Amino acid sequence: MSKKMLFKGFRLIDGNGGEPIENAYMLIVDSKIEKIGSIDEKGNIEGAAEIDLKGKTVMPGLINSHVHITMEPIGDPTSLMARESQSKTALRGVANLRKHLLAGTTFFRDVGAGYGIDFALRDAVNEGLIQGAQFLAAGRCLTMTGGHGWFIGREADGVDEMRKAAREQLKAGADLIKIMATGGVMTKGVEPGSPQLSMEEMAAAIEETHKAGKKAATHAQGTQGIKNAVLAGIDSVEHGIFLDDEVIQLMVERGTYLVPTLVAPYFIVKNGIEAGIPKHAVDKANYVMDYHRESFKKAHKAGVKIAMGTDAGTPFNLHDKAPYELKLMVECGMSPMEAVVSSTRGSADLLGILDNYGTLEEGKYADFIILNENPIDNLDTLFEIDEVYKLGKKVE
Ligand SMILES: [Zn+2]
Repeated sequence: MSKKMLFKGFRLIDGNGGEPIENAYMLIVDSKIEKIGSIDEKGNIEGAAEIDLKGKTVMPGLINSHVHITMEPIGDPTSLMARESQSKTALRGVANLRKHLLAGTTFFRDVGAGYGIDFALRDAVNEGLIQGAQFLAAGRCLTMTGGHGWFIGREADGVDEMRKAAREQLKAGADLIKIMATGGVMTKGVEPGSPQLSMEEMAAAIEETHKAGKKAATHAQGTQGIKNAVLAGIDSVEHGIFLDDEVIQLMVERGTYLVPTLVAPYFIVKNGIEAGIPKHAVDKANYVMDYHRESFKKAHKAGVKIAMGTDAGTPFNLHDKAPYELKLMVECGMSPMEAVVSSTRGSADLLGILDNYGTLEEGKYADFIILNENPIDNLDTLFEIDEVYKLGKKVE
Protein backbone atom coordinates (compact mmCIF):
# COMPACT_ATOMS: atom_id res chain seq x y z
CA MET A 1 0.00 0.00 0.00
CA SER A 2 1.25 3.44 -0.79
CA LYS A 3 2.10 5.92 1.92
CA LYS A 4 0.34 9.29 1.77
CA MET A 5 1.44 12.43 3.62
CA LEU A 6 -0.34 15.76 3.52
CA PHE A 7 1.77 18.77 4.55
CA LYS A 8 -0.15 22.00 5.01
CA GLY A 9 -0.10 25.59 6.20
CA PHE A 10 3.44 26.44 5.09
CA ARG A 11 4.97 29.09 2.86
CA LEU A 12 6.01 27.47 -0.44
CA ILE A 13 9.09 28.45 -2.43
CA ASP A 14 8.89 26.06 -5.36
CA GLY A 15 12.31 26.77 -6.91
CA ASN A 16 10.99 28.45 -10.06
CA GLY A 17 11.61 31.96 -8.76
CA GLY A 18 8.03 33.29 -8.54
CA GLU A 19 6.38 34.83 -5.49
CA PRO A 20 6.19 32.40 -2.56
CA ILE A 21 2.73 30.92 -1.94
CA GLU A 22 1.46 31.52 1.59
CA ASN A 23 -0.64 28.81 3.23
CA ALA A 24 0.26 26.05 0.81
CA TYR A 25 -0.23 22.28 0.84
CA MET A 26 1.64 19.34 -0.63
CA LEU A 27 0.48 15.75 -0.97
CA ILE A 28 3.29 13.20 -1.07
CA VAL A 29 2.55 9.67 -2.21
CA ASP A 30 5.53 7.41 -1.51
CA SER A 31 8.55 9.19 -3.00
CA LYS A 32 6.77 11.70 -5.23
CA ILE A 33 4.75 14.89 -5.10
CA GLU A 34 1.21 14.07 -6.14
CA LYS A 35 -0.35 17.50 -5.62
CA ILE A 36 0.94 20.89 -4.52
CA GLY A 37 -0.34 24.48 -4.38
CA SER A 38 -2.42 26.95 -2.41
CA ILE A 39 -4.57 25.33 0.27
CA ASP A 40 -7.69 26.94 -1.27
CA GLU A 41 -7.32 24.55 -4.21
CA LYS A 42 -6.66 21.47 -2.10
CA GLY A 43 -10.04 19.78 -2.49
CA ASN A 44 -10.83 16.59 -0.65
CA ILE A 45 -7.89 14.37 0.21
CA GLU A 46 -8.50 11.16 2.10
CA GLY A 47 -6.31 8.61 3.78
CA ALA A 48 -3.26 10.83 4.24
CA ALA A 49 -1.33 11.46 7.44
CA GLU A 50 -1.59 15.23 8.04
CA ILE A 51 1.41 17.33 9.06
CA ASP A 52 0.79 20.92 10.07
CA LEU A 53 3.64 23.24 9.07
CA LYS A 54 2.14 26.59 10.05
CA GLY A 55 4.84 29.27 10.25
CA LYS A 56 7.40 27.17 8.33
CA THR A 57 8.82 27.60 4.83
CA VAL A 58 9.23 24.66 2.44
CA MET A 59 11.61 24.74 -0.52
CA PRO A 60 13.39 22.16 -2.71
CA GLY A 61 16.50 20.52 -1.27
CA LEU A 62 19.71 22.27 -2.28
CA ILE A 63 21.56 20.92 -5.31
CA ASN A 64 25.30 21.50 -5.24
CA SER A 65 26.89 21.38 -8.69
CA HIS A 66 30.51 21.15 -7.55
CA VAL A 67 31.59 18.82 -4.74
CA HIS A 68 34.58 16.60 -3.98
CA ILE A 69 32.92 14.05 -1.73
CA THR A 70 36.12 12.09 -1.03
CA MET A 71 38.10 15.17 -0.03
CA GLU A 72 38.46 16.18 3.62
CA PRO A 73 38.26 19.97 3.98
CA ILE A 74 41.38 20.34 6.11
CA GLY A 75 44.31 22.67 5.37
CA ASP A 76 45.98 20.27 2.96
CA PRO A 77 43.41 17.74 1.68
CA THR A 78 45.48 16.45 -1.24
CA SER A 79 48.49 15.44 0.89
CA LEU A 80 46.14 13.58 3.21
CA MET A 81 44.59 11.73 0.27
CA ALA A 82 48.03 10.86 -1.09
CA ARG A 83 49.14 9.19 2.12
CA GLU A 84 45.99 7.38 3.27
CA SER A 85 44.56 4.14 1.89
CA GLN A 86 41.83 4.14 -0.73
CA SER A 87 39.55 2.32 1.70
CA LYS A 88 39.95 5.14 4.21
CA THR A 89 39.21 7.72 1.51
CA ALA A 90 36.05 5.80 0.64
CA LEU A 91 34.95 5.87 4.28
CA ARG A 92 35.45 9.63 4.36
CA GLY A 93 33.11 9.78 1.41
CA VAL A 94 30.48 7.81 3.35
CA ALA A 95 30.69 10.25 6.26
CA ASN A 96 30.61 13.30 3.99
CA LEU A 97 27.54 12.04 2.11
CA ARG A 98 25.52 12.10 5.29
CA LYS A 99 26.74 15.60 6.13
CA HIS A 100 25.45 16.96 2.83
CA LEU A 101 22.07 15.33 3.28
CA LEU A 102 21.54 16.43 6.90
CA ALA A 103 22.45 19.99 5.90
CA GLY A 104 19.73 20.05 3.23
CA THR A 105 21.68 19.15 0.10
CA THR A 106 19.57 16.38 -1.38
CA PHE A 107 21.45 16.07 -4.68
CA PHE A 108 24.89 17.08 -5.91
CA ARG A 109 27.52 16.47 -8.53
CA ASP A 110 30.97 15.14 -7.74
CA VAL A 111 33.52 16.59 -10.12
CA GLY A 112 36.54 14.41 -9.67
CA ALA A 113 37.65 11.46 -7.57
CA GLY A 114 40.20 8.73 -7.97
CA TYR A 115 40.05 4.91 -8.03
CA GLY A 116 36.32 4.69 -8.85
CA ILE A 117 35.45 5.52 -5.25
CA ASP A 118 32.83 8.05 -6.38
CA PHE A 119 31.07 5.45 -8.55
CA ALA A 120 30.93 2.98 -5.66
CA LEU A 121 29.58 5.65 -3.29
CA ARG A 122 26.97 6.78 -5.81
CA ASP A 123 25.76 3.23 -6.35
CA ALA A 124 25.73 2.52 -2.60
CA VAL A 125 23.43 5.51 -2.03
CA ASN A 126 21.12 4.50 -4.87
CA GLU A 127 20.94 0.92 -3.56
CA GLY A 128 20.19 2.14 -0.03
CA LEU A 129 23.37 0.62 1.44
CA ILE A 130 24.38 3.96 2.94
CA GLN A 131 22.51 7.15 3.75
CA GLY A 132 23.44 10.24 1.79
CA ALA A 133 22.59 12.74 -0.88
CA GLN A 134 22.13 11.29 -4.36
CA PHE A 135 24.77 12.41 -6.81
CA LEU A 136 26.27 12.29 -10.27
CA ALA A 137 29.92 11.23 -10.49
CA ALA A 138 32.62 12.28 -12.93
CA GLY A 139 35.26 9.70 -12.05
CA ARG A 140 38.78 10.79 -12.85
CA CYS A 141 39.11 14.25 -14.33
CA LEU A 142 40.84 14.56 -17.66
CA THR A 143 44.00 16.63 -17.42
CA MET A 144 47.15 17.12 -19.44
CA THR A 145 50.32 15.42 -18.19
CA GLY A 146 51.25 17.25 -15.00
CA GLY A 147 48.12 19.42 -15.32
CA HIS A 148 45.76 20.60 -12.58
CA GLY A 149 44.58 17.75 -10.35
CA TRP A 150 46.79 15.14 -12.05
CA PHE A 151 47.01 13.13 -8.80
CA ILE A 152 43.32 12.19 -9.03
CA GLY A 153 43.12 12.60 -12.80
CA ARG A 154 43.57 10.70 -16.03
CA GLU A 155 46.49 12.36 -17.76
CA ALA A 156 45.96 12.61 -21.51
CA ASP A 157 47.75 14.47 -24.30
CA GLY A 158 46.55 14.96 -27.85
CA VAL A 159 43.15 14.64 -29.49
CA ASP A 160 43.07 10.84 -29.83
CA GLU A 161 44.14 10.23 -26.27
CA MET A 162 41.54 12.68 -24.93
CA ARG A 163 38.86 10.89 -26.92
CA LYS A 164 39.98 7.61 -25.44
CA ALA A 165 40.22 9.03 -21.91
CA ALA A 166 36.62 10.28 -22.10
CA ARG A 167 35.44 6.91 -23.42
CA GLU A 168 37.26 5.17 -20.58
CA GLN A 169 35.52 7.24 -17.91
CA LEU A 170 32.12 6.75 -19.58
CA LYS A 171 32.77 3.01 -19.73
CA ALA A 172 33.69 2.99 -16.04
CA GLY A 173 30.33 4.60 -15.20
CA ALA A 174 30.82 8.37 -15.33
CA ASP A 175 27.63 10.46 -15.37
CA LEU A 176 29.58 13.45 -16.65
CA ILE A 177 33.11 14.24 -17.78
CA LYS A 178 35.32 16.78 -16.02
CA ILE A 179 38.04 18.44 -18.05
CA MET A 180 40.87 20.69 -16.88
CA ALA A 181 41.13 23.71 -19.17
CA THR A 182 43.56 25.69 -17.00
CA GLY A 183 45.83 25.52 -13.99
CA GLY A 184 44.36 25.96 -10.53
CA VAL A 185 44.86 27.05 -6.96
CA MET A 186 45.37 23.73 -5.19
CA THR A 187 47.96 22.08 -7.44
CA LYS A 188 51.54 23.12 -6.82
CA GLY A 189 53.42 24.52 -9.81
CA VAL A 190 50.45 25.30 -12.06
CA GLU A 191 49.02 28.78 -12.62
CA PRO A 192 45.25 29.50 -12.47
CA GLY A 193 45.61 31.88 -15.40
CA SER A 194 47.41 29.57 -17.81
CA PRO A 195 45.62 27.42 -20.40
CA GLN A 196 46.26 23.66 -20.22
CA LEU A 197 44.35 21.24 -22.47
CA SER A 198 43.85 22.77 -25.93
CA MET A 199 40.52 23.54 -27.57
CA GLU A 200 40.97 20.60 -29.96
CA GLU A 201 41.79 18.19 -27.13
CA MET A 202 38.75 19.28 -25.14
CA ALA A 203 36.45 19.20 -28.18
CA ALA A 204 37.24 15.50 -28.73
CA ALA A 205 36.36 14.58 -25.14
CA ILE A 206 33.23 16.75 -25.19
CA GLU A 207 32.06 15.16 -28.43
CA GLU A 208 32.32 11.69 -26.89
CA THR A 209 30.50 12.88 -23.77
CA HIS A 210 27.64 14.43 -25.72
CA LYS A 211 27.34 11.34 -27.90
CA ALA A 212 26.69 9.40 -24.69
CA GLY A 213 23.97 11.93 -23.74
CA LYS A 214 26.01 13.36 -20.88
CA LYS A 215 27.38 16.74 -19.84
CA ALA A 216 30.94 18.00 -19.76
CA ALA A 217 32.20 20.37 -17.08
CA THR A 218 35.47 22.22 -17.04
CA HIS A 219 37.70 23.51 -14.34
CA ALA A 220 38.55 26.83 -16.01
CA GLN A 221 40.04 29.87 -14.33
CA GLY A 222 42.12 31.89 -16.84
CA THR A 223 40.46 33.76 -19.71
CA GLN A 224 42.06 31.94 -22.64
CA GLY A 225 41.37 28.50 -21.15
CA ILE A 226 37.74 29.41 -20.44
CA LYS A 227 37.35 30.62 -24.02
CA ASN A 228 38.90 27.40 -25.36
CA ALA A 229 36.46 25.31 -23.33
CA VAL A 230 33.39 27.35 -24.29
CA LEU A 231 34.29 27.22 -27.99
CA ALA A 232 34.94 23.47 -27.65
CA GLY A 233 31.30 23.10 -26.53
CA ILE A 234 31.58 22.70 -22.76
CA ASP A 235 28.32 22.68 -20.76
CA SER A 236 29.63 24.43 -17.64
CA VAL A 237 32.56 26.58 -16.66
CA GLU A 238 33.54 25.84 -13.08
CA HIS A 239 35.13 28.73 -11.11
CA GLY A 240 35.41 31.14 -14.08
CA ILE A 241 37.82 33.41 -12.25
CA PHE A 242 39.05 35.60 -15.12
CA LEU A 243 36.05 36.27 -17.37
CA ASP A 244 36.23 39.00 -19.99
CA ASP A 245 33.34 40.56 -21.92
CA GLU A 246 33.97 38.41 -24.98
CA VAL A 247 33.76 35.09 -23.13
CA ILE A 248 30.74 36.28 -21.14
CA GLN A 249 29.01 37.07 -24.43
CA LEU A 250 29.93 33.63 -25.79
CA MET A 251 28.52 31.96 -22.68
CA VAL A 252 25.26 33.91 -22.95
CA GLU A 253 24.89 33.00 -26.64
CA ARG A 254 25.65 29.33 -26.11
CA GLY A 255 23.77 28.94 -22.83
CA THR A 256 26.93 27.79 -21.04
CA TYR A 257 26.50 27.59 -17.29
CA LEU A 258 28.83 29.23 -14.78
CA VAL A 259 29.39 27.40 -11.47
CA PRO A 260 31.20 30.12 -9.54
CA THR A 261 32.36 28.36 -6.30
CA LEU A 262 33.01 31.77 -4.70
CA VAL A 263 33.54 30.16 -1.30
CA ALA A 264 36.56 28.12 -2.43
CA PRO A 265 39.15 30.95 -2.44
CA TYR A 266 37.25 32.72 0.34
CA PHE A 267 37.94 29.99 2.91
CA ILE A 268 41.57 29.61 1.79
CA VAL A 269 42.19 33.34 2.23
CA LYS A 270 40.23 33.46 5.49
CA ASN A 271 42.17 30.61 7.12
CA GLY A 272 45.62 31.11 5.60
CA ILE A 273 48.92 29.27 6.08
CA GLU A 274 48.48 29.35 9.88
CA ALA A 275 45.74 26.76 9.40
CA GLY A 276 48.06 24.43 7.48
CA ILE A 277 47.04 25.42 3.94
CA PRO A 278 50.05 25.17 1.58
CA LYS A 279 51.61 28.58 0.87
CA HIS A 280 51.27 28.20 -2.92
CA ALA A 281 47.48 27.79 -2.51
CA VAL A 282 47.12 30.75 -0.13
CA ASP A 283 49.15 33.03 -2.41
CA LYS A 284 47.14 32.06 -5.46
CA ALA A 285 43.78 32.38 -3.66
CA ASN A 286 44.78 35.84 -2.42
CA TYR A 287 45.66 36.81 -5.94
CA VAL A 288 42.45 35.59 -7.59
CA MET A 289 39.70 36.36 -5.05
CA ASP A 290 38.82 39.90 -6.14
CA TYR A 291 38.98 39.08 -9.87
CA HIS A 292 36.73 36.09 -9.19
CA ARG A 293 34.04 38.24 -7.60
CA GLU A 294 34.25 40.89 -10.33
CA SER A 295 33.86 38.19 -12.99
CA PHE A 296 30.83 36.77 -11.20
CA LYS A 297 29.22 40.22 -10.99
CA LYS A 298 29.77 40.88 -14.70
CA ALA A 299 28.51 37.43 -15.72
CA HIS A 300 25.39 37.74 -13.58
CA LYS A 301 24.60 41.20 -14.95
CA ALA A 302 25.06 39.98 -18.51
CA GLY A 303 22.63 37.10 -17.95
CA VAL A 304 24.96 34.08 -17.90
CA LYS A 305 23.13 31.06 -16.47
CA ILE A 306 24.45 30.34 -12.98
CA ALA A 307 24.27 27.11 -10.97
CA MET A 308 25.35 26.91 -7.35
CA GLY A 309 28.47 24.94 -6.50
CA THR A 310 30.78 25.16 -3.51
CA ASP A 311 33.87 23.05 -4.30
CA ALA A 312 33.28 21.41 -0.88
CA GLY A 313 36.31 19.42 0.20
CA THR A 314 38.80 22.18 -0.53
CA PRO A 315 40.41 23.77 2.57
CA PHE A 316 37.80 24.66 5.24
CA ASN A 317 35.06 24.46 2.62
CA LEU A 318 32.91 22.14 4.73
CA HIS A 319 30.56 19.49 3.41
CA ASP A 320 27.62 20.83 5.41
CA LYS A 321 27.96 24.57 4.78
CA ALA A 322 26.66 25.22 1.26
CA PRO A 323 24.63 28.30 2.33
CA TYR A 324 27.87 30.32 2.55
CA GLU A 325 27.96 30.18 -1.24
CA LEU A 326 24.43 31.58 -1.50
CA LYS A 327 25.40 34.40 0.84
CA LEU A 328 28.46 35.29 -1.25
CA MET A 329 26.43 35.22 -4.47
CA VAL A 330 24.02 37.69 -2.85
CA GLU A 331 26.93 39.85 -1.65
CA CYS A 332 28.05 39.93 -5.30
CA GLY A 333 24.77 41.12 -6.74
CA MET A 334 22.22 38.30 -6.85
CA SER A 335 18.87 38.67 -5.12
CA PRO A 336 18.24 36.05 -2.41
CA MET A 337 15.57 34.49 -4.67
CA GLU A 338 18.04 34.25 -7.55
CA ALA A 339 20.52 32.52 -5.23
CA VAL A 340 17.81 30.04 -4.18
CA VAL A 341 16.85 29.36 -7.80
CA SER A 342 20.52 28.81 -8.81
CA SER A 343 20.80 26.33 -5.94
CA THR A 344 17.71 24.35 -6.93
CA ARG A 345 16.27 24.70 -10.43
CA GLY A 346 19.52 26.08 -11.91
CA SER A 347 21.68 23.22 -10.67
CA ALA A 348 19.05 20.65 -11.65
CA ASP A 349 18.97 22.06 -15.16
CA LEU A 350 22.76 21.92 -15.45
CA LEU A 351 22.86 18.37 -14.06
CA GLY A 352 20.19 17.28 -16.54
CA ILE A 353 17.82 16.11 -13.78
CA LEU A 354 15.19 18.87 -13.95
CA ASP A 355 12.46 16.50 -15.09
CA ASN A 356 12.55 14.79 -11.71
CA TYR A 357 14.28 17.14 -9.26
CA GLY A 358 15.06 20.80 -8.56
CA THR A 359 11.58 22.26 -8.13
CA LEU A 360 8.56 21.28 -6.07
CA GLU A 361 5.96 20.38 -8.67
CA GLU A 362 3.54 17.58 -9.33
CA GLY A 363 5.23 14.40 -10.51
CA LYS A 364 8.68 15.25 -9.17
CA TYR A 365 10.53 13.50 -6.37
CA ALA A 366 9.78 14.80 -2.89
CA ASP A 367 13.24 16.18 -2.06
CA PHE A 368 12.60 19.20 0.15
CA ILE A 369 13.64 21.08 3.25
CA ILE A 370 11.57 22.68 6.00
CA LEU A 371 12.83 26.01 7.34
CA ASN A 372 11.97 28.06 10.41
CA GLU A 373 12.20 31.33 8.52
CA ASN A 374 11.75 32.63 5.00
CA PRO A 375 15.22 32.32 3.39
CA ILE A 376 14.40 35.29 1.14
CA ASP A 377 14.39 37.46 4.29
CA ASN A 378 17.22 35.62 6.03
CA LEU A 379 19.50 33.18 4.20
CA ASP A 380 21.06 32.18 7.54
CA THR A 381 17.98 30.07 8.21
CA LEU A 382 19.51 27.60 5.69
CA PHE A 383 22.25 26.84 8.22
CA GLU A 384 19.66 25.58 10.70
CA ILE A 385 17.31 23.45 8.69
CA ASP A 386 14.35 22.13 10.64
CA GLU A 387 13.84 18.95 8.63
CA VAL A 388 15.06 17.34 5.41
CA TYR A 389 13.00 14.98 3.26
CA LYS A 390 14.66 12.80 0.64
CA LEU A 391 12.48 10.84 -1.81
CA GLY A 392 9.50 11.44 0.47
CA LYS A 393 11.22 10.12 3.60
CA LYS A 394 12.24 12.20 6.60
CA VAL A 395 16.02 12.15 7.05
CA GLU A 396 16.99 11.09 10.57
ZN1 LIG B 1 36.71 21.45 -7.65
